[in-house]
Amino acid sequence: MIRWCKNCRYPTKNKTCKLCNNKTEPLSEEAIPVFKHEKIILSYLLDKDVTSEQVWNLGRNYYLINGERIVVNYSSILNNETEIEKIRENILNYKEEDNEEFSNFVEGNKQHLDEIIMEANQYIKETVSKYENYQPIVSWSGGKDSTVTSDLVRKTTGNNTILHIFGDTTLEFPTTYKYFEEFKKDNMFTPFMVTCSDKNFSELCDVFGPPSRVMRWCCSIFKTGPISRSFNDTIGKKILTFYGIRKSESASRSKYLRTVQSPKISRQIVSAPIIEWSDNDVWLYILSEKISFNKAYEYGFRRVGCLYCPNNSMWSEFLSSIYFKEEYKKWKEYLYTFAKGIGKEDYIDYIDTGNWKARQGGYGLDNSMTKLENVECNLYENAQNYFMKKPITKDIIQYMKPLGDMKIIEDKGEYKLIINHLKQGDIILQWNENSSLIKVVINSDKNVSLLYKRIECQLRKYQTCILCSACDSVCPLGAISTLDKYIVSDACIHCGKCISHFNGGCLINKTLYKSKI
Ligand code: SF4
Ligand code: SF4
Ligand SMILES: [Zn+2]
Repeated sequence: MIRWCKNCRYPTKNKTCKLCNNKTEPLSEEAIPVFKHEKIILSYLLDKDVTSEQVWNLGRNYYLINGERIVVNYSSILNNETEIEKIRENILNYKEEDNEEFSNFVEGNKQHLDEIIMEANQYIKETVSKYENYQPIVSWSGGKDSTVTSDLVRKTTGNNTILHIFGDTTLEFPTTYKYFEEFKKDNMFTPFMVTCSDKNFSELCDVFGPPSRVMRWCCSIFKTGPISRSFNDTIGKKILTFYGIRKSESASRSKYLRTVQSPKISRQIVSAPIIEWSDNDVWLYILSEKISFNKAYEYGFRRVGCLYCPNNSMWSEFLSSIYFKEEYKKWKEYLYTFAKGIGKEDYIDYIDTGNWKARQGGYGLDNSMTKLENVECNLYENAQNYFMKKPITKDIIQYMKPLGDMKIIEDKGEYKLIINHLKQGDIILQWNENSSLIKVVINSDKNVSLLYKRIECQLRKYQTCILCSACDSVCPLGAISTLDKYIVSDACIHCGKCISHFNGGCLINKTLYKSKI
């Protein structure tokens, strides 16, 4: 619980104010500093000038303005371009002055900050020495949490040359790209590895539909896929990644552990020095250590990430409509077209109310490529003929590699693949080059239906694959690469983890799944 000193007007965790010795009062779970740009917006919404007041955000649309709790309502002007234009004008006409005054906040909480820094330092030192054979790196996103983590790790290790990795989704806030350039200038000795997908977000939206809260296909493709590909290509060693994740960010993150094997990128231990910090602690660090930060926070954004993330709040979208006018407009137009295309009669409402974010499955989208067609073959036992929706070429062999050690027999365009599947029997695949028919025979008495499920995952991958790169981060050994073609290297030990990692084998199938009801 954060408290408030009425006398010195600043939030603190101390029951007695360190500056005036008065008793402090309970305030709220969070207290986030509010900067000038946001104060201009608040002034407009409240119809009174609060630009020179002490303002703290207490979570969502609750504010403390000059010691008084106020709920700020903005829903009535969401999507109202005339009102938004007036706010934009107010911001433009505002002349930058000196930075806000946070000296009481910094002075009154000095002891608390020293304690949490000391604890984080100790943890970082212990983690680095425990994983001494791992290459330490910092995952940098341009957000406040990774900014603080970077500062802490570099100061604790005394090493400014620790590698930073910036997974550029290509969809970051424009302020993030600016801040990235500033950060590099201010920290000239800190090397950066920037990873970036070669995929085009809007083209993939045409396949998958816009990412929704339950179908966030974009993270694998634009973030984890390119990062693990770069790790596989450039860093031979095991990796110890420091990142800025914190429990108070969301209920799902509240269960995170401080040091764990990465669930998304293998070969990697992830470590979260500020996992227990509150937003208030993070701001205390930034303002006390006087480190620069992403301008988006001055604008009023609470979180910095992708422009089009379905997890962005209404407030964040409201701010995007003010500050990132063109990008926002384009995205909204795309969403309207999409909603119309999938048959939503009330498409404007569907988008404006944010209902599209709860979209599940691929209703209204074409998922025919994910469907496999097959008939039983009467000539052999346990045999099926599959009719593929694209010509079968040698490329299919790569998709079959995870199933087991294989022998390839080729005779004038006729292929036979004999796969020894996990010591459970042989799988035989037969096809003619460029035909659409492939015969699958299973020489085993046990688990026949399970084996078929696995084969179908790989056949579906072959049929559906658009090299989206999501598979790259699935293999613990980094054996899968989808740069120009789907390649499974000889590092594959046939552990089978990649086979049904995505429902039915492929992220497209998982995302476009339509239940039968
Ligand atoms: S098989 Fe599917 S998930 Fe894997 S890279 Fe291809 S399109 Fe992406
Ligand atoms: S996860 Fe990697 S090692 Fe395991 S089967 Fe797939 S490619 Fe092979
Ligand atoms: Zn006080």
